[in-house]
Amino acid sequence: MQSELLQPIDSLQGVGVKRAERYQRLGIDSVCALLQHYPRNYLDLTTTIPVALAPVDALSPILATVTQKGTPYTVRKGLTLYPVTVGDHSGNLKITIFNNHYQFNSLQPGNTYLFYGKITGTLRNRQMNSPQIFLPEDACLRPIYSLTDGLTNKMIITNIRQALTMVDDSDIIPPSIREEYHLCSYHTALHQIHFPSDWKAAEDARRRLIFEELLVWQLGLSLLRQKRTERTHQLLSHTDLSPFLATLPFSLTDAQTRVIRECIGDCLKSHPMNRLVQGDVGSGKTMVAAALCYLMAQDHMQSAMMAPTEILAMQHYQTLSSLLAPLSISVGLLTGSLKKKEKEQLRDQLRCGQLSVVVGTHALLQKATVFDNLGLVITDEQHRFGVVQRKDLAAKGKHPHMLVMSATPIPRTLALILYGDLSISVIDELPAGRQPIQTVAIPPSKRHRACSFLRQRMDEGRQAYIVCPAIEKSKGETVSLLEYAKTLESTEFQNYRVGILHGKMPPAEKEEQMTKFANGDIQLLIATTVIEVGIDIPNATVIMIENAELYGLSQLHQLRGRVGRGRFPSTCILVSSLATPENKMRMQTLCHTNDGFIVAEKDLELRGPGSFFGDRQHGLPPFHIANLLKDMDLVTECRNIAEQILKRDPGLTAKEHRGFHQALTSMFSYYSNSL
Ligand code: ADP
Ligand code: MG
Repeated sequence: MQSELLQPIDSLQGVGVKRAERYQRLGIDSVCALLQHYPRNYLDLTTTIPVALAPVDALSPILATVTQKGTPYTVRKGLTLYPVTVGDHSGNLKITIFNNHYQFNSLQPGNTYLFYGKITGTLRNRQMNSPQIFLPEDACLRPIYSLTDGLTNKMIITNIRQALTMVDDSDIIPPSIREEYHLCSYHTALHQIHFPSDWKAAEDARRRLIFEELLVWQLGLSLLRQKRTERTHQLLSHTDLSPFLATLPFSLTDAQTRVIRECIGDCLKSHPMNRLVQGDVGSGKTMVAAALCYLMAQDHMQSAMMAPTEILAMQHYQTLSSLLAPLSISVGLLTGSLKKKEKEQLRDQLRCGQLSVVVGTHALLQKATVFDNLGLVITDEQHRFGVVQRKDLAAKGKHPHMLVMSATPIPRTLALILYGDLSISVIDELPAGRQPIQTVAIPPSKRHRACSFLRQRMDEGRQAYIVCPAIEKSKGETVSLLEYAKTLESTEFQNYRVGILHGKMPPAEKEEQMTKFANGDIQLLIATTVIEVGIDIPNATVIMIENAELYGLSQLHQLRGRVGRGRFPSTCILVSSLATPENKMRMQTLCHTNDGFIVAEKDLELRGPGSFFGDRQHGLPPFHIANLLKDMDLVTECRNIAEQILKRDPGLTAKEHRGFHQALTSMFSYYSNSL
């Protein structure tokens, strides 16, 4: 970016303190930020329509000459109307200007203007109220910008016109790449995105700008991957898993074995591992983590596993300790809710290396947590940690290996964006003997029948979940957990052992409920989505989800994954009163497939990538123009190009690649200077 464009926005003519403040509201503080305020659409004024042919009730651009200016009249206080008659070869049009004396005055009889507005009236008596009025030379694709109070489209256009005159022809994409991929120059792209000569030019400009963003993004990710040239001394020397495997009550699936081998392969190299393990719910990702913790411990290295919630941390802690304790490997749990004393004790054990494995929440990241010899960092993510948190945990060791487990399947293209700095392994197989979960969608009127189905299952010795959205009393249709639980306890399930679980409960109580459910003391758990991530009770075989319309498909799939984890056939009942075609389609998607990757694709299609990333703070790249959903093809293409570029010029030191540096810095500054 030229340094001139980094000037503050008020260096432009007509931008004073006030307007600068308004621009600030749109996040625009510099000339270059203004130039990146791309139009959200265009007003097509290029093809005008003869008055007689303009359809009634539709917006049309009309090129016509003022034939008569009528006498203004005031209808009531504060409303003055200015009648103007205009016409072209085909007919006349009566225009009424509202309250705009200035606009009325500027119209000259005999002169031709472009009027844009909605045609009303009849075929013979066509009218247009308060049109936008332009000069004939404005007959172009006119940019439409996102606005804020006190900032009009016209003001933005004027400011951008001036800003564009400051743009020189420097370009961060070298000519060779531009040529190969038929990209216009940056200079052209900027002009054409704001003031396109036609639709094709606008599209070409858009493609070029998207290409640049995605290419820089992928270069950054590739560089992060490359950074793994940093050396690690945390090498595995033992790769024999047989003692670990011998204690398991089952054999690993081929997919688990392959993925574990991929990880071990990484940990034998002198660069730290950076790997994402993806797999559908129930595919057994935890086993991969456990196997690696086992090997690390054999080499006297510690492993830390970070989970997004306390419940999940607790669950992982239980799983890992049950798997590893028989092999004399000590496992600890570190969460925010521990007593101060307990935390201190645990941290002491970590510091002096007494503890081999620790599972925890964000509490792991605190300064006070110090490791003796951290070899492996595992994060179990619900898209909740970003590059930064992972790095913070890794910083507690000397280039430890890093394993990221994604709790929800993510479409591959999206994984490339979010986790593009990692190598990816997919567990594409469920443990043998799993029965597909039967999913049904019902209206609330059938809830009573569903409850009797739940009772039947519990009578057979199984357990069940009911998921409700809200904890406290809430508006309208939404079922409130506490009230609903009370009702159910005293009616449908009065003869059953019912438990309640929600996020606002004190951690000790949560743990108690989970433990009771895990050992069967509780038959029916009525819970909020806190059970969404990871909870693993193989004896639970029915889950009924209230207000299913409130959740994204991936989230529903994740919730549904709480059942079908053992050898019993399982059922998921989606309760929803919302009968819109979209909701029906969503429910049908779940009824028809058990494949999390297909569900994820559909979710992406329906709700866009935002649904996967959550808010921007958590990993969504700061793109100005690229639309992750529409531009998927370019994502993959740019990843390949980035790799080719770095193969030829690993440090981006060639003259023609110099431009990338600054672009990288500004895009990745957001990631706390991780480059
Ligand atoms: P997820 O991939 O959803 O995190 P988990 O790791 O929680 O899955 O595993 C789900 C369940 O499957 C657990 O009860 C686990 O003990 C069991 N499991 C894992 N691997 C196997 C296997 N190879 N054979 C049978 N059961 C398995
Ligand atoms: Mg899991």
